[in-house]
Parts: sequence; C-alpha cells; structure tokens
Amino acid sequence: MRLPSGQADEPRLRYAGTAMKIIAIKSFPVWAGHRNLFVLKIESDDGSYGYGEAGLSGRELAVQGAIDHFRRFLIGEDPRRIGALWQRVYRSQYFEGGRVLTAALSAIDIALHDLVARSLGVPVYQLLGGKQRDRVPCFVTTTTQPGPGVVDEAERLVAAGWTCIRTGIGYPAVDEPYEGDGRPDPVFDPRVSMAHTAEWIVKVREAVGRRAALGIDYHHRLSVGEAASFCQSMPAGTLDFLEEPIRDETPEAYDALQRMTPVPMAIGEEFASKWQFRPYLERGISAYARLDICNVGGFTEAMKVVGMCEAHYIDLMPHNPLGPVSTAACIHLAAATPLFAWLEERSPELGFDFDSELFPVQPKLDGVTHRVPDTPGLGVEFNEDAPAVKKAFEFWENPHLRRSDGSHTNW
Ligand SMILES: [Mg+2]
Repeated sequence: MRLPSGQADEPRLRYAGTAMKIIAIKSFPVWAGHRNLFVLKIESDDGSYGYGEAGLSGRELAVQGAIDHFRRFLIGEDPRRIGALWQRVYRSQYFEGGRVLTAALSAIDIALHDLVARSLGVPVYQLLGGKQRDRVPCFVTTTTQPGPGVVDEAERLVAAGWTCIRTGIGYPAVDEPYEGDGRPDPVFDPRVSMAHTAEWIVKVREAVGRRAALGIDYHHRLSVGEAASFCQSMPAGTLDFLEEPIRDETPEAYDALQRMTPVPMAIGEEFASKWQFRPYLERGISAYARLDICNVGGFTEAMKVVGMCEAHYIDLMPHNPLGPVSTAACIHLAAATPLFAWLEERSPELGFDFDSELFPVQPKLDGVTHRVPDTPGLGVEFNEDAPAVKKAFEFWENPHLRRSDGSHTNW
C-alpha cells in the first residue's frame, strides 16, 4: 500500500531499519525567572531529538550528577526501547529508586518519548494508546494568599471561566521572622494559619457559590490533629479537596485523618514510584492522584499509576509547577488517560507563558484549558543558545520555616 506522502514514508522506513543510537544526553539546569528548571535533551544518530524535564525543585545539581552517571551507559543504546531503558536505569544500582534518581529517570523517559514520537512523526499521546480527549481542563492557583483580596481574585477567576480554584495557605506571622539564633527564618504558626485560612476560604465559598471547585494546598505543614481541626472548622462542602495537609511517608496517618473528616484528599506529588502510590490508591486515601510525571519516573511509570487509578475510580490531577516540558508531558498524559480531573496551571502572578526566547514553542492556554496538540512529539522546543541558558543555574533555597518556639517545620 502506498503511503500518502513522502514525509510519512521516511520515518516508517527508518523505524523498520535496524540501527538507531543515542549519541548525546545534554542537561540544562537553567534559571527561569522564579526558580531553576532542569531540562534534558537526548539526541540520536538519525538526527532525532527529544526533551525531558526533572522535577526535583531545589536540588537540580543532584539530578545532574545522576544524569552524568546514567549517560555513561545510555550512549549507544537504541532510544526506541523505552521500557527496557527505564528498567536498565532503574535497576542499574543496588540501591534502587529514590527521588533524585527517579527525577533523573523521569527526564530521560520523557525525552525518549519525545524523541521516538518525533522520529515517527506522531504526537506523544499516540505512543500511550491514543487520544481520549481533545482538551485538558486546568485548575488555577490564586496569586493572593487567604486574607483581604483573595475573595476578589477568586471572583475574577470565576468570571474569567475557571472552574477549579486552589488557594495557598495563610501564615500571617511571616513578617515577624524568628531571630532567636541569628537566623531570620519565617515563622509558621499552625493554629494562626488554620484559623486565618479557614476564615477566608469560607468567604471565598460564599462568594463563588458552587460555580467553582475549591481546594487548598497545605504543603504538609500540619499534624493529623491539626488537619482534622482545620477541616472541622469549616461548613461541610466548603472544600472540594485538601491537598497534602500532612506528610505522606505513612499512609496510616492519612487513614487516621480520613476517619476524622470527609474532605477529599489530593496526594502524591512527592511520590517517586508506583509503589509509593499503591497504598494510597488501594486504600482509597487519595481521592485525587497528584502525580508528578517529572518525578514519578516519566510516562512509563505514570501510565502504570494511571492504570491503578482507573481500577480504583480515582481521578488524575497532575502536579505541574515546573516548565513547558512538564506541562506538555502532562497534556499528553491527560490525553491518554480515561479518568482526569484538572491539570495544575500557574498563578496569574507569574503569567501563564514562559520566556519565549528560552522556549520558542511551548503549550499555551486556550481560555482555561489546553488543547491537545497533534504535532509530532511533545510540542515543545528549547533554545540551547538563549542567554538564560548561558546564565544557567542560580543557587536558590526554599525558606526554612520555624515554629514560634524556634523548632524547625516543613516548607
Ligand atoms: Mg502541592
């Protein structure tokens, strides 16, 4: 049978051929104006290339060290053997897994999908079973923290069409840093934060009614008891989801919390494997899976988590605070996923677009959704020669939060 065009002819013949080798793996930890991004490029000997991104924000140089090691045995491999290369990287050390190594593996896996899809002339979603939706719904995070102004902003966002809004949390003592030992760290007082945040989220709900789903990301800063009190301090139905009120190492702690509140939990952005997701999905602890494709192990691992989510009727709600490669990867994952809630978008404060000199081609919001692109690969281009790349990595560290008594607590 004749192929419709010479353009389609070439990749198909190339795929039927024998040799295709990885010839270069380049890492770019680059300052993107508010944080560093870790962009990866893989090139193959037929001229194909693909981009990936690692999501271990704040520890990009550790990821670069892992990439420098993996590069030694990935050069010369066939980039089309994505699943086999995933296993080869994951099992290449006796001490398997861990967030640093799976962030590096995620970038590699995403870049291989982009590369192979480009070489075949198909969008990445085609490698994942094909497109199941044309648009990807998104949620937005308010720029204004709970307090005066957040109600107005929420009303503006609803008027602009957003159907799911997430706020951050209030910690009003931030302007009075702890200085007991000479380190002026911001103070987080959970009880002050809980009272302040609950007061304002109730006002937001009263203002927007049921026109939008509402959620809060508590950034795992509470204890089980504090999280329960926080949920109980608001009328039923105020929150559609509460994101990570407590740390996630111990699923039993979430079991205990769920016995004290009916609020649905959104959990999972720190999970670095399907094995970490497993108890949360099997036991119904997570109502929304906050999978981060740039940390969990790329498309290969994410699709396995997606299968577990489908078996337990749990919607995917990807964590996406990174760059355009992450957003594009999430869009293709969403396209190939049956159960999907919302994709995370940035706060309006940062703007929804990234530096166009750094990313000449990048996903663009269309209203409050992303259209699923039908172009080959992920639909992202990265400019290695952009001035920002020359400037490269900038040391940046999260604030180190203290309690008012000087003890340390989670960022
Ligand atoms: Mg979060």
